[in-house]
Parts: sequence; C-alpha cells; structure tokens
Amino acid sequence: MNAFPQKSTVRAPIVAPATSTAPGPGIPTSHPLAAILDTLHRGERFLVCSHTRPDGDAVGSMLALGMVIEQMGKAAHLVTADRVPIQYWQLPGADSIHTMPYIRGRYDAAILLECDSLERTRLRGLEELFVVNIDHHITGVEFGHLNWIDHSAASVGEMVYQLARAAGVAVTAQMAQCLYTTILTDTGGFCYGNVRESTFALARELVQAGADPIAIAQQVYFSASASKLLLLGAALRRLKREGCLAWLWVTHQDMQRTCATEEDCEGIVNVLLGMAGVDTGVFLRELPDGSIRLSLRGKGRLNVAAIAARLGGGGHQNAAGCTLEGPLPRALEEILTELRGAI
Ligand code: 5GP
Ligand code: MN
Repeated sequence: MNAFPQKSTVRAPIVAPATSTAPGPGIPTSHPLAAILDTLHRGERFLVCSHTRPDGDAVGSMLALGMVIEQMGKAAHLVTADRVPIQYWQLPGADSIHTMPYIRGRYDAAILLECDSLERTRLRGLEELFVVNIDHHITGVEFGHLNWIDHSAASVGEMVYQLARAAGVAVTAQMAQCLYTTILTDTGGFCYGNVRESTFALARELVQAGADPIAIAQQVYFSASASKLLLLGAALRRLKREGCLAWLWVTHQDMQRTCATEEDCEGIVNVLLGMAGVDTGVFLRELPDGSIRLSLRGKGRLNVAAIAARLGGGGHQNAAGCTLEGPLPRALEEILTELRGAI
C-alpha cells in the first residue's frame, strides 16, 4: 500500500512525465516495455498476479492489466493468494480475481505486479512459467525473465497505463476507475513523496476517461468497519514515542477481541505520522503463529526500505515492511535497535 518512493528515475518512463502523459513517439527496442509488449502479442493466455495481502495498487493494476490483455484479444487469469480487501470490491471486475494458494494450467507468461520474488506472491506453481516482473519498489529485484522496474512511477498502475497506451488499447472508464485507485492509494491521497506534477496530469486523464474520484475516495477512505476502529483504539492505547520515533502494536488477542481481519490493520501505522515531530512510525502485529508483521513509515529522514530489507523485507523509501520472529517484545526490541542506530 501507501508508497513513498524516492524521486530518482532509474529508467526513463515511456511517457514523459513532467509535461504530458500522452504516448511517446515510440518505444525504444531496448526498453523493457518493448519486450513485454512482444510477449503479450505472441501469447494467448496470461496469468496476472500480485503480492500477498493485496493493496489498492495490487488490485487496481491487476484488474487494469487484465482489461488491457482482454482488449488485445487474449485471455487473462487474475490470481492472488489472499482475498481482495473489502474496500476494493466495488472496482470493476473485482470478482474476477481468484483467491487460491496454487496455480494450475498452462500460460504463455505469468505477469507479476509489485513483487520482488516469486515467494512474495505466496502462490505455488509459478516456478515453471515464463515470468514478467513489473514493479516500482526501490527494493525491486530483477527476478523475472523480463523485468520492468521504474522507481519513478507513483504506482504500478501508472506503469500499466503506460503499457495500455503503448499497446494502443483504449483506456476505458472501467480501466480508468482501477488505475485512478492505484494512484490514490499508493500516494496516500496525493500526500506522499512520490507525487509529481505528472501524477496530477495522469489523474486528470483518468477522470476524463471516466474514473469517479469521489466514489473511489469514499470507498477507500470512508468504508472502515467498526472492528477496524476498535482495533485502532487498542493500538493507540499502547502508543509510545521517543523523539522522532513512534510505535504501537496489536496482539493476536486484540485481533480476536475486536473481530478484526488482517485488512483492518491497513493504515494504522499511518496514524503515527500524523503526530507533529514524528518522522518514523512502526506498527507491529502478532500473527496467529507467533511471528510478527512489521510496517514502517517515514517522512523522509530515514530510508525505511533499507531497514526492512536488512530484516528480510522491502518496500519504498518511506513505506516498507517485513516479517520478524516473535515474540512481540523481542521483535519490538529488534526494530527499535535498528531504528535508534539509524537515527
Ligand atoms: P505494508 O506496511 O503496508 O505492509 O507495506 C508497505 C510497503 O512495503 C508496500 O509497498 C509493500 O509492498 C512493502 N512490503 C511490506 N512487507 C514486505 C515484505 O515482507 N517484503 C517486501 N519485499 N516488501 C514488503
Ligand atoms: Mn505500489
């Protein structure tokens, strides 16, 4: 979810972002998008996947890419290991995303969005497939047979938009709805450091194409369950602060007591950044097996992706995560030691 990537451009996007989001004069054959388009033109059946606990960018970009592939006259099968969070159920085609732990069947390629490895999907059965990796994380890894990693993209949805334009398919209202959602959620409502002038230009194009920004914002930000608010309350009672560092956590018991689901944890860490003077926020969640999910958020002082990567995870400069060994006090001490050292 919420991305705050560095502004550095590792690979120039096809669409010049500073001035226009119109398609460029052509794709250089050396650009990874050219090879990806070639793969799409040659094949007939494609698998589209994203990471576990899919967020707005994962869901929206999967749906939009599925629409692009179908407009090209090919078949797209969308699969994630975890279900689509409830706030994205209204997106066009959301019920076409299958939730299953393994892949069956033959595909000309598996297109993985927002993943740094096959394991990040938590899907079994990808090993034999030709893999196309499309990502915008700063910790992105070229693990696929074809790799397109663009750190400057505000969302992977922005890259899917570029792909749609390069493929010459129409950006339909339904596609625009999905792509706008990826930008809104990965920029935290146009608040984070990955927002550029071109982000607004793209948002405008998507609204012109039929995206409804108000309906999407209401669905994403004003649809929390009571459980989510009760869980937030439990977390806030444990709020701790040490200078520019703030942290909180929830136990598995808290999750059970408030009837919260995994997706109700989304966004709790961001509340910490709302505090004046806090630059780095930490949220820990105890999993049923005793291991600990860690979410890190920053406002720019630290590269939290580097810290998460050291602990076996990854993410963006200002939003990252990983899984740590329990118990909770041990995991908390581990991350606080890392952060105090870095600060
Ligand atoms: P969240 O804190 O919302 O789970 O994740 C924040 C960001 O870090 C997202 O961009 C997400 O993809 C990335 N991230 C979270 N956990 C992991 C992880 O275990 N491995 C990797 N590679 N990235 C992660
Ligand atoms: Mn993303």
